[in-house]
Amino acid sequence: MREGLHKIVSDDGTIVAVSTPLGHSGIGIVRLSGAQSRDIAVRCFKASSGNSDLQHRTAVVGVWNAVNGEQIDEVVITFFAAPHSYTGEDVLEISAHGNPFLLRRIVESAQAAGARPAGPGEFTLRAVAHGKMDLVQAEAVKEFIECQTEHQAKNALRQMSGTISRRIRPIKEELLNLIAHLEAGIDFAEDDVDVPANAFIAEHIRPLVLQLEPLKDSFGYGRMLSKGLRLAILGKPNVGKSSLFNRLVGADRAIVADIPGTTRDVVTETVSLDGVPLCFADTAGIRNTTDEVEGMGVERTFETLAEADFALAVLDGSQPMDEDDEETLRRACEIPHVIVINKNDLPQQNAYQLNGSKRVRLSAKTGQGFEELYAALGEFLLSHRRSMADDFVLTSARQYDAVANAAAALGNAEQATLAGTPHEMVLLDLYRGLGALDELTGDVVTEDILQRIFSTFCIGK
Ligand code: GDP
Repeated sequence: MREGLHKIVSDDGTIVAVSTPLGHSGIGIVRLSGAQSRDIAVRCFKASSGNSDLQHRTAVVGVWNAVNGEQIDEVVITFFAAPHSYTGEDVLEISAHGNPFLLRRIVESAQAAGARPAGPGEFTLRAVAHGKMDLVQAEAVKEFIECQTEHQAKNALRQMSGTISRRIRPIKEELLNLIAHLEAGIDFAEDDVDVPANAFIAEHIRPLVLQLEPLKDSFGYGRMLSKGLRLAILGKPNVGKSSLFNRLVGADRAIVADIPGTTRDVVTETVSLDGVPLCFADTAGIRNTTDEVEGMGVERTFETLAEADFALAVLDGSQPMDEDDEETLRRACEIPHVIVINKNDLPQQNAYQLNGSKRVRLSAKTGQGFEELYAALGEFLLSHRRSMADDFVLTSARQYDAVANAAAALGNAEQATLAGTPHEMVLLDLYRGLGALDELTGDVVTEDILQRIFSTFCIGK
């Protein structure tokens, strides 16, 4: 069992949980993991064939009984013997009828026979503890279960198979070699051991930094992939922001009205473009206002903008530009954006003084011109996708922090070496880099990190 994890799974108890969603369904699955799984099956399960022996990876039909012998359901059980199971322990999967009441009774019977209820993600935690997967892979399991688009699923699947871990392992090995080299130089300096030259050390650190950087940079896209691209729709009141929003998300969510300032809160909705979730936020509108409630809406608009990845700066093409429009453009320039000139179905004012940003003319009323807007968004996504190597994408802030810390520490070590800093000091940075990578894969973990990761899992996974 890995360092740090033993405390959390030390009770070695057998855990049980319903692994399928609560509700009525064709089949529901109860899962057990731990050394008592087999004994519990012997107590509660009677095979129809009369032979209740549990064979590895073999499904058996029979009845599941409460510990007092009362029949609960007809089931199929499948047994996976340790260590060849998801968790690395003996695992029993009981496929029963998908009735929440029955499933709960099966769980209760397992508890009466010695199991305890599993915590969130505890099956996966045990898989990590028994070396079946590392922490990055465990996070990918959660992403895979929760993802909403095919693209997200493909990425999570790749991570589950360990692509990131495979990239990190050789970097860690190189780093350990380097550390050993430096330590030897320090420990045996008086025994004529060669102290490695600074240029030699720096030369060996550089490739490691170069390998970590693209991984770190993949997070921008990875976050978009997992959380969605956050788009803020900006513009003064009445330019057609809500109409644009409704057409983009395909629903009449936002209120469309002729009275300026009707959208006072931020309305959000998510749709998918090329497998990436796009989360559009219809904002209150940018306007210099004395109305207190509208002013609060404008404040929220700026907060939404601060959190957005991309802005749609909407102008009314049928009207001349004014100060509020200029403020909209100024604000949009703070992040990647496209200028949307709306109401293309009306006679147009062409004397617009616009900056060099990409612009799209369309009509939220007729739908004309939207392909061009989707193309502009697609282009933005593609530019991010191109900036990373395609077989790995960091998707969690925890992973990003670890890789960024490692890259920064190694970058420092390189600079320090070139500046002739004593090797004892350089070693501190190298150890810091190694520590960050260990944290990434979970080779060294704290309870706090595990708590953070697994508390967000569903029970039964
Ligand atoms: P918001 O205040 O910026 O959210 O603007 P709304 O979406 O509420 O629209 C304000 C008014 O402009 C409404 O009467 C809409 O019907 C109208 N409108 C929105 N988009 C278009 C468009 O493309 N063409 C025309 N002719 N009217 C539009």
